[in-house]
Amino acid sequence: MSTQNPIFIPGPTNIPEELRRAIDFPSIDHRSALFAEMFQPLAAGLRRVLKSEDAQIAVFPATGTGAWEATVTNLLSPGDRVLASRYGMFSHRWIDLCRRHGLQVEVIEAAWGEGAAVQDMEQALAADREHQIRAVLVCHNETATGVRTDIAAVRRAIDAAGHPAMLFVDGVSSIASMDFRMDEWGVDAAIAGSQKGFMLPAGLAIIALSAKAEAALQTARGARCFFDIRDMLKSNANGGFPYTPPVNLIRGLSVSIEMLEREGLENVFARHARIAEGVRKAVAAWGLSLCARHPSLYSDTVSAIVVPAGFDATRIVTHAARTYGVAFGVGLGEVAGKVFRIGHLGSLTDVMMLSGLAAAEMVMADLRLPVEMGSGVAAAQDYYRATAGSAGSSV
Ligand code: PLP
Repeated sequence: MSTQNPIFIPGPTNIPEELRRAIDFPSIDHRSALFAEMFQPLAAGLRRVLKSEDAQIAVFPATGTGAWEATVTNLLSPGDRVLASRYGMFSHRWIDLCRRHGLQVEVIEAAWGEGAAVQDMEQALAADREHQIRAVLVCHNETATGVRTDIAAVRRAIDAAGHPAMLFVDGVSSIASMDFRMDEWGVDAAIAGSQKGFMLPAGLAIIALSAKAEAALQTARGARCFFDIRDMLKSNANGGFPYTPPVNLIRGLSVSIEMLEREGLENVFARHARIAEGVRKAVAAWGLSLCARHPSLYSDTVSAIVVPAGFDATRIVTHAARTYGVAFGVGLGEVAGKVFRIGHLGSLTDVMMLSGLAAAEMVMADLRLPVEMGSGVAAAQDYYRATAGSAGSSV
């Protein structure tokens, strides 16, 4: 099955033609100088995207989940204590993964629709006088609820508590689409995947480590083999991989970074913010609300839209796919059936977004939701017209 329509799930995202061409080439010898030349500039490019001067970069053939696993097994030991806030399906899954690796996770619950419970985290850190908590885990952009957490505030909380814990940040659905400041925020491990802001198919897990995290690599006793970052860095230093690398995706990632930098990273972030704001105007015009409870929490990459009580939001996603060949995201976990998600990240313009909003309106009208046809599209059009030509407009 295929559709010509753009995709509106929060990853994988639309793959631009330039990237499709970049990854379409015959096999090469991954032990050759050709691969080394292709691979070696990648780390510097990723550091620029992450706004880090000297983070160590490891890229594995895996997905975001693999990056979570690589981070905790390389930097922690079974029995270690970590602090995490749970406020959506992805923060939940990371907590679950930590527990399966034998970590003791202190979980601070927050409502789904809120961000990480930063104040409570600060209290938990302050109460840990013996500094047993080894790491604080935060999901920058909770993709299930369309909520961003202020990572600078998490850093301030750790510092205010005078705590030496490392800060691990899941940026899977934010990095390369929303501003991410690894050094300024004092992030020790930053995690991303290829299939969201980088606009590629799934298949690359990206991990960036601070000097503190790099030191932890040597002492951690987490079980690791495939994901051993020490092996990866050693091989990378010689221009290679510890095993067969996904050469085509690696080239794709370099070209993706070229594209992001050609547009200008700040323009990329502004474009995401502008497209997202148009979606939010549409949601308001439909008389619906976002799962995110406060404008400061609104994600620029995904909007989770709450449907009227008693209506199963999954019907919107199913009907959109079957009837119009358009993909929206389903609600996950606690918000399953209560929200549907519009992904607005990666290779996307305001005009493409309008087609998604128009499709959502047709679907909701078909399903007899009390949404006035054209209202959301018109609200987004007004916003896109008023802001055309400003930073982040698509031309
Ligand atoms: N973290 C976040 C915030 C995500 O959105 C996702 C996937 O959507 C993941 C982690 C897991 O990534 P993957 O599905 O690539 O394993």
